[in-house]
Order: sequence, then structure tokens, then C-alpha cells
Amino acid sequence: MPHYRGSCHCAAITFEIDALIERVTQCNCSVCTKKGILHFRVPPNDFRLVSGEAELGTYRFGTGVAKHHFCTVCGIHVFTRPRAAPELYTVNVRCLDDYDLEKERPEIVPFDGRNFEAQVDTLNAPAPR
Ligand SMILES: [Zn+2]
Repeated sequence: MPHYRGSCHCAAITFEIDALIERVTQCNCSVCTKKGILHFRVPPNDFRLVSGEAELGTYRFGTGVAKHHFCTVCGIHVFTRPRAAPELYTVNVRCLDDYDLEKERPEIVPFDGRNFEAQVDTLNAPAPR
């Protein structure tokens, strides 16, 4: 299983994931649009927060279920505990330091987060093969 390291811009927050990244999710909800993030889900066993617990900020809105985590020093969004599956992490693939989006070119799957209730089942469906 490939292993990647991620961080915020100032590197106060660092994390690691074990993951095979073949597709990432681009969500059009109000907050993801403004952040411009690309999501990739990892189960808790494959995610490790290495440093920065003290710098980790949390933003919640709407239902308050999702926890949008960012660095309180540099402001970069590093990962989310998503509303659709709060037990998981969705890391911001743009924060992975040794994963080159331009080179790897994962499939970018749109998610219609503006219509979350109607669309959430598509998010939790098994990935197509
Ligand atoms: Zn930072």
C-alpha cells in the first residue's frame, strides 16, 4: 500500500496516510468550492496525525456534523471528518507533499454537495471498478 505524507503550508500540522489514490472527489458545496480542495477518504487505521494537534482548528457549519480541520497558523485546510461518514477522514490531496497531482492525474469525481441530502448515497456507494 502506498504511503504519503501531508502537511499544511507552515508544516505545523503533518500527517501520514496509507492509500492507493485512484480517484479523488471534488465537491461543489459552499465551503469546498471556496477552499478548492480535493478530497480522498481514508479509514482511521490508515491515517496518522504526526504533529500539530495544538494548531488544529475546527470549522463547523450547517448541521455541524462535519469537522473541517485547518491550521490555525497558516490557514490551510488539511483534512475533514466528513458529514457523510464522520468515522473516516477525507484528506486534502493538495496537502500531500509526496503525491504529485499533475503527474498522477487521478480521476476527479464530482460530488454535488450543494444537494447533499439527495446525493449522499452516491458518495457512500462502492467505487465503480
Ligand atoms: Zn500551518
